[in-house]
Amino acid sequence: MEIIKEDVIIIGGGMAGLRAAISAAEYDRNISVGIVSKLYPLRSHSVSAEGGTGAVLNPEDSFDLHAFDTIKGSDYLADQDAVERFVRIVPEQIYTTDHWGCPWSRNQDGMISQRDFGGMSFPRATFAADKTGFHVMQTLFSRCMKYDNIHFYNEYFVTSLIISGNSFNALTSIRLRNGEFTIFQGKSLIFAAGGAGRLYQFSTYAHSVTGDGDAIAFRAGLPLKDMEFIQFHPTGLVPSGILITEAARGEGGYLVNGKGERFMEKYAPTKLEKAPRDIVSRAIMWEIEAGRGVTGKYGNAPYINLDLRHMADILEEKLPMITEIARKFNDIDAATEFIPIRPATHYTMGGISVGLNTETEVPGIFGAGENVAISIHGANRLGSNSTNECLAFGNVAGRMAAEWARSHDQPDLERSRAEAEEKRIWDELLNRNGGEDIARIAEDLRITMDSDVGVFRNGPDLVEAMKKIKSIEDRYRKITLVDKSSVFNLELTRALEVGFMIDLAEIIAKGALMRKESRGAHYRKDFPERDDANFLKHTIARYTKGGVQLEYTPVTITKWKPAPRVY
Ligand SMILES: Cc1cc2nc3c(=O)[nH]c(=O)nc-3n(C[C@H](O)[C@H](O)[C@H](O)COP(=O)(O)OP(=O)(O)OC[C@H]3O[C@@H](n4cnc5c(N)ncnc54)[C@H](O)[C@@H]3O)c2cc1C
Repeated sequence: MEIIKEDVIIIGGGMAGLRAAISAAEYDRNISVGIVSKLYPLRSHSVSAEGGTGAVLNPEDSFDLHAFDTIKGSDYLADQDAVERFVRIVPEQIYTTDHWGCPWSRNQDGMISQRDFGGMSFPRATFAADKTGFHVMQTLFSRCMKYDNIHFYNEYFVTSLIISGNSFNALTSIRLRNGEFTIFQGKSLIFAAGGAGRLYQFSTYAHSVTGDGDAIAFRAGLPLKDMEFIQFHPTGLVPSGILITEAARGEGGYLVNGKGERFMEKYAPTKLEKAPRDIVSRAIMWEIEAGRGVTGKYGNAPYINLDLRHMADILEEKLPMITEIARKFNDIDAATEFIPIRPATHYTMGGISVGLNTETEVPGIFGAGENVAISIHGANRLGSNSTNECLAFGNVAGRMAAEWARSHDQPDLERSRAEAEEKRIWDELLNRNGGEDIARIAEDLRITMDSDVGVFRNGPDLVEAMKKIKSIEDRYRKITLVDKSSVFNLELTRALEVGFMIDLAEIIAKGALMRKESRGAHYRKDFPERDDANFLKHTIARYTKGGVQLEYTPVTITKWKPAPRVY
């Protein structure tokens, strides 16, 4: 067992983790910062962010407008104090990354360009062509190189968190290169391990996005908030699920059904294709259910067409990546042909419950990015409101964790608990021998989530989903891992990821079953209306020995009273 000590430990080298690291390292050059990541940072899902990052940069825009759009987009489940803070601290991050070399796209006059996205009352998505995540991540990663107090621990797979006496004690991990069981100790910890979208089959996410951070925190006793809210992005490319950015509609793209009709007028008469994602995804699914989908060329499941043909002149400059994706993956020329799309899982609105300063319930443990719910997205995140959150609250988390580390000591390792975790993995999990195949289990889990906990939900399906998840959990106890080696054992890490996802599936399905209303991305066919009297509240999921326990906490409303949400 190897023990590594740093002052601040960050789990995750994505946009939130890197931004937090820079902020902590800058706060005090004598504080050491360790980024622990199962991937090389530039393989984190953040790199694939496409369309843009929302920020108030234009005098005609305002903080109140950005806040209101976000709150209305959230179907009034966002905490309004968090949103007000968020919109104010975002613009500085655009200029800071600009100064660090991020190649933000510009207008003819040299000013930073902005474009329209769903649910915006002013075009405020700042972008670097349609490769925003790639460029921001390159910028942050290069910036990290400037600080010799930032240390990277790449390809260390974190398996658990040890909390002792209500404070951070250690992370346990596997060093993938040689299987060495490695303990990370720090004075403070930041969770920045990303979302959980690979719980679903048809998804825009990288395969690495398996909710490890949420599950690890949950098992250690930290509550998760609003996990039933899973975002489906309207335009996942059929059949791969690769994202076709919302900027395609922001720049003027149409959605067309199998009869050749633009149908969004029925669902969002004013905003049309630029309505928020939950509304557009539902509209697509209603069209498909009504038999107006397109069938034939791409398997059995019907889809809808995205039409960019009238925008041929801007495709290469403003949407080069999706143009290339359509060509390379579907042999489609977006300038002359339709792009086949269907809603795909894209974002995890819920996460570890954190306060306005990114603090969790346990002093010294913080969190930022998709791993947490602060909560600014509520029941539905607006497009372009995540990368900016990673930057803005990553910055806050880094500072908070550094401040904490300056005034606290390293804890003594709870060695017996670390040893118990080592035993659980190498002796117990690796040696299970019931004949069940981990890949099959993962697939069954995804199919269950797609079919029963998807865009449309209802009571009986959710009850069924809970049963199926329970039986998947039983089968999980009987897996056999064929690979027994300690070097880069990806079957073992896959098994750990699937274990995390089973926990989260149960939390999501249970939260969805108990929320007997429709709000944002959570749509119950048996309860189609929003019910503020009973459900204007956050779902909090806690781990207990007897299973998941749900509680509810109030939503913070400052100045925007819940109103009907029409676009
Ligand atoms: C295709 C796509 C396009 C998007 N486009 C946009 C956009 O245009 N605008 C926008 O605002 N948002 C967009 N989003 C959302 C946004 O990109 C993400 O929410 C955000 O980048 C997440 O960043 P993160 O740092 O929280 O997590 P990630 O980038 O997912 O990073 C997670 C990190 O945690 C590490 N990790 C996870 N588990 C473990 C473990 N067990 N042990 C060790 N390390 C671990 C990983 O190695 C990784 O480094 C998009 C998302 C997708 C999927």
